Amino acid sequence: MTEQFLVSASPFPRRHARLVRIGHVALGSDAPVVVQSMTNTDTADVVATVAQTAELARAGSELVRITVNNEDAAQAVPHIRERLAAQGVDVPLVGDFHYNGHALLGKYPACAEALAKLRINPGNVGAGARRDTRFADIIELACKHGKPVRIGVNWGSLDPSVLARVMDENASRSAPLSAGAVMREALIVSALESAAQAESIGLAADCIVLSAKVSSVQDLIAVYRELARRCEYPLHLGLTEAGMGSKGIVASTAALAVLLEEGIGDTIRVSLTPEPGGSRAQEVVVAQEILQTMGLRAFVPMVTACPGCGRTGSTFFQELAARIQRHVRERMPQWRERYDGVENMTLAVMGCVVNGPGESRHANIGISLPGTGEMQAAPVFVDGRKTVTLRGDDIADEFAAIVDEYVTSHYARKYA
Ligand code: SF4
Repeated sequence: MTEQFLVSASPFPRRHARLVRIGHVALGSDAPVVVQSMTNTDTADVVATVAQTAELARAGSELVRITVNNEDAAQAVPHIRERLAAQGVDVPLVGDFHYNGHALLGKYPACAEALAKLRINPGNVGAGARRDTRFADIIELACKHGKPVRIGVNWGSLDPSVLARVMDENASRSAPLSAGAVMREALIVSALESAAQAESIGLAADCIVLSAKVSSVQDLIAVYRELARRCEYPLHLGLTEAGMGSKGIVASTAALAVLLEEGIGDTIRVSLTPEPGGSRAQEVVVAQEILQTMGLRAFVPMVTACPGCGRTGSTFFQELAARIQRHVRERMPQWRERYDGVENMTLAVMGCVVNGPGESRHANIGISLPGTGEMQAAPVFVDGRKTVTLRGDDIADEFAAIVDEYVTSHYARKYA
């Protein structure tokens, strides 16, 4: 009998943004929400930047942004592109420009050609008439090279002239807005006016992406809701300076999940500060997990595991859950090449009989390990049916082998 749910699990309809093409990646409209990331290497160090870009791309980053902050970096960009191509890494590169973008892009056309998109911050191109001239120069160069542009405002570098104007307008209101509301409005106005200016210079509307990043969850939600209401440009979501470890992950997830649930957001980045020695690719994994746990996209088979409790017989089930999670991530690059739909597979590793068999039956493959005082046997469920009971010291290897066999027998081969 088909299970009927009384409560709909569907998110709000996706906001319909314009479609923007960034190299081979489609952004906006009905395209899937795109995962992106940014390197933290010195772009002038071609070897290090190629290695990290490839690491991010292989982890699943669909766009990779690199800073282009000086002449050495601008000259390095075409070499980075070439070396990535030689490794078979075709991820589109986005150049991040501040202060001197107009000069670098003008002097090094090969840099502009090697990039798939330019990101400029209208608060960091200069002040007064100089700001308008430099901004126009960058937009004209984007038009000349046929590159889309992300106009990315950030409250840490908000255009002071826009803020002053919005503050003046607010002061003349009969009921002035709060300082926070003025700041949010200034961010939105800066993004929208810059986009309008770019269009007036000649950049097509379907070559513009907007972002307006702040570091507070509630501010980010408020700003993006309003941006989504006022324009049709695709929106890049990200909580700026999210922080390190669990704080950065939780803050980013809290903000992005609310917006994504409302259909807002066409591409996301999770701006994590890496732990010392930690992998930069963690931000890609977190971004994928946000989208996958929300049911918006699938990247890697998901492992459901119970938290364990006083009924847990040992730490073995935690070790097994971690091992299986690692196993599918390690196998995924080959599986992705060979098997259609494997990313939708679900796995469950449970610690005892209370919820173990039930949760395992909901997964494609589940195992219910014995809790304290239970018979030392681990039933395995495949597509809801108990198929085998594992015992002894090789449960982990045997369960991994069952997962591998399921993949080869249940997902369509891409190549005969
Ligand atoms: S499944 Fe068993 S071990 Fe896991 S949390 Fe529930 S009661 Fe505890």
